[in-house]
Amino acid sequence: MFKFSLKRFFHNTHQDLSLEEEIFHLVIFYSALASIFFTITVLILDCALSSRILIGISSIFYCLIYVLSNQKKWFEILLRTFIIYTLIILSLIWCLKGGFYSDVPIIFILAFVIFIVIMPKEIRVLGMTLFAITFSILIFIQYFYPQLIVNRASPEVLTYEILISTIATILLSGRVIHTFKNRFEIDRKILQQKNKELEQATQAKSQFLANMSHEIRTPMNGVIGMTDLLNDTELTMEQDELLNAIKISGERLLIIINEILDFSKIESGQNQLLQESFSLIECIEEALNINAPKALDKKLELNYWVEPNVPTHILADKGKLSQILINLIGNAIKFTPKGEVIILIKNIAATNDKIDLIFSVKDTGIGISRESQLELFDAFTQVDNSNQRKYGGTGLGLAISKLLAEMMGGQIWVESKVGEGSTFFFTISVPRLDEVSMLNEVNTQILKGKKVLVVDDHETNRWVIKRLLTKWGVTPYVVDSADAAMAVFKTKKDLDLGILDAYMPEKDGIELALELKENGAPFPLILFSSGNKPNFEDFNKLFASFIRKPLKQQHLLQALIDIFSKPSDSPIRKRETIFNVLLSKQVPLNILIVEDDFINQKVIGKVLKKLGYQVDISNNGLEALDRIESTPYDLVFMDIQMPEMDGYETTTLIRKNKKLNHSKLVIIAMTANAMQEDRDKCLKLGMNDYISKPVIAQEIEQIIRKWKEA
Ligand code: ADP
Repeated sequence: MFKFSLKRFFHNTHQDLSLEEEIFHLVIFYSALASIFFTITVLILDCALSSRILIGISSIFYCLIYVLSNQKKWFEILLRTFIIYTLIILSLIWCLKGGFYSDVPIIFILAFVIFIVIMPKEIRVLGMTLFAITFSILIFIQYFYPQLIVNRASPEVLTYEILISTIATILLSGRVIHTFKNRFEIDRKILQQKNKELEQATQAKSQFLANMSHEIRTPMNGVIGMTDLLNDTELTMEQDELLNAIKISGERLLIIINEILDFSKIESGQNQLLQESFSLIECIEEALNINAPKALDKKLELNYWVEPNVPTHILADKGKLSQILINLIGNAIKFTPKGEVIILIKNIAATNDKIDLIFSVKDTGIGISRESQLELFDAFTQVDNSNQRKYGGTGLGLAISKLLAEMMGGQIWVESKVGEGSTFFFTISVPRLDEVSMLNEVNTQILKGKKVLVVDDHETNRWVIKRLLTKWGVTPYVVDSADAAMAVFKTKKDLDLGILDAYMPEKDGIELALELKENGAPFPLILFSSGNKPNFEDFNKLFASFIRKPLKQQHLLQALIDIFSKPSDSPIRKRETIFNVLLSKQVPLNILIVEDDFINQKVIGKVLKKLGYQVDISNNGLEALDRIESTPYDLVFMDIQMPEMDGYETTTLIRKNKKLNHSKLVIIAMTANAMQEDRDKCLKLGMNDYISKPVIAQEIEQIIRKWKEA
């Protein structure tokens, strides 16, 4: 309930009233006050009866409304009544006081302004229209029916009226301004209070995040610490590389966890930007390394190219840059079922003290529709909610990347077509550093003028290797198949090196290497593969080096330098063929390989092929049983650990089943387990012999001769 009090007009602003209600209250108060004074004036002074009645009624009306306006709930009705009554009374006064040529038009304008202020939005248009119509009608009457307009006011009354209206208007305006000021002051205080509360809430959230990050970081540190301990033990080169990848992944994961937990911190500008000088290529390669296993699983080609005008070292926040790269490359792989992911880095603008770099991560994946692209960089956004189930993820990666890119003075955006793929671009701005050359001039000097044969069925790989080799002064002969490579080999007799992709359709890298060697190729070869290094003994005789995809510039460069630094009479040149190609003629056999691992299938398959045998391959025991039922094999090489049905069970079933087993069927276990019990178990279950992995050509030949030579 709104109680009358003089104090309320001069001191307090009423928070329980809306601004319109409060101003309406003031207007009513001053209207009532003014009308009482008018009434006194017209009673004291000589005045027409009609004016006296009108003013008298008005003062009663305004006082009544003022008293009733204590009831907040009647605001709407009182306001409408006030507006309509005031319009009527103003119209009558207009006619009684000479209309246009009196002080009434000014009162009209004043009322108009007051109405705009006090009228709530919903009735403002209606009220203004009513006002305009009334005003137009009065003007119309004034011009066309001037006899209806009279001037009954005496000059003294007029003077007093003007005086009273002026005083009332000044007081009212003062009060209205005061009310507005008070309101703003209160709003400011409320806002301050809210800000304080918000700050406290943010602080509590930060505290929670800090605790969380600590909880997650502790076990992660354990993982990373263990990799360090493992690193201290004796490891092969390959294990070392894998362990390194685990360690880098662990460290990156730690960074990502921290960054995700810090998301709100970055958003509120609390995350500090570090500046360190680092090798850009190393940073990219680390990001690629982390994502390489996923790309390998999906058989995606993963490549990068840094334009020569990009500085090798930059001064920036390495952690943040690699987080963006890891996010974008990770997404590109995640949303690309087949094809490739390529990262390009260019220098787009350079001044004396600054360089703007643009990074693009291009994929041949599912793409993103135009509508989805608009909100892609908002936090917790995923293109289609079903994605979350299919692909996982939080929808935070791109939002974080955007904030990070912006922190580094850049932007992020995407170009994409559904079904064709996406390219994510981001820029960063870095200070110009004195160029530090990554490559040792003396080393690359060794490569100048060397002629290198490159074979890869994948166009982007060819493009990248060709540009790299050219950059180092090497003359590349780049072809897309083993047959084309043989053709180059036959015409170019002075080749210095061959770089062969391991997986190619038709003829793969190992087959091509064997063919080259058999044809007397004197130059060393490098095998280039997204898989593991093939596990067969003669690898080192066939290849001078192995490079894992995604191609790392430094690795390739080092391999080239190592090879070309060796004395020219490398043993590779003198090598005789390691396979007895006549064996299959001497001991013809039908051979089945039962092996689940693709690489192992390839290796043993190749070895047997080089010995002259055609072989069949089954991926597990169940498949093997089907094959053996339809084909009378002489020899089965049986892996032990396989999905669906393992080697032990398969052998037991074969030996028990008269339809499958025949007296001449020899089963040789291929086991990675060198323990005597495993070997005994193989023999007990009906296998004839065993060979251990990695398989060696000579050992296979011995086994064949032992069991099958008549
Ligand atoms: P998430 O953790 O879900 O991957 P992101 O913010 O990294 O979160 O990505 C948000 C969404 O953007 C993804 O869920 C996906 O729908 C879409 N997206 C991101 N990158 C790609 C891409 N390369 N191809 C297709 N869609 C993408």
